[in-house]
Amino acid sequence: MNLDQIIACPMCDALHLDQEVQKQSVAQCARCGTVLAAPKSGAMTRIAMLSITALILLMAAASFPFLSLRVQGFSHQASVLDTILAFATGPMLPLSLATGFLILLVPAARYCALIYTLTPMAIGYRPAPHAATVYIWAERLRPWAMAEIFIIGVAVALVKVSGLARVELGPAFWAFAALLVVTILTDSSICRLTVWKTLKTRSTI
Ligand SMILES: [Zn+2]
Repeated sequence: MNLDQIIACPMCDALHLDQEVQKQSVAQCARCGTVLAAPKSGAMTRIAMLSITALILLMAAASFPFLSLRVQGFSHQASVLDTILAFATGPMLPLSLATGFLILLVPAARYCALIYTLTPMAIGYRPAPHAATVYIWAERLRPWAMAEIFIIGVAVALVKVSGLARVELGPAFWAFAALLVVTILTDSSICRLTVWKTLKTRSTI
């Protein structure tokens, strides 16, 4: 049997014969029900556009004011970048580095990798050089891109802080909230099997 015609379920390793899946249909693992392929028409263009949107939102989320606090006549506002840099010296440096990497740099690197891999294929060209390696890294970085987890953490913290001071949400907060929606849309549009097959067939043209 040709090994190229077999695909493994990413969750339970059950082997399946690779068959053509129609657009807008879903192929699921026969054992555990994990979605193996869900090709959608125009998905690569949509993912590339969503990734560009996410990058712009991430830049806005990092640089615009995130929150402003008012207490007893004093007010202070800060962006995420200000907050990271404020802890960049002294014992809080590891926390500052982790925050910068996990909520800004890793998500930005992942979106750049998706744009680099998918845009040439979305417009019908051959994949860019080393596109497969870059796509592997986009997938590896996915669990470490925590911009959306950050906003959930902030929402929980706001409940506590709102009892102590008057809190006003800045534009960066809403940019992060929009980023959460765009990230969910991007991740639900990606059919990894289709991306790999397209990378393979286009590379050999
Ligand atoms: Zn399975």
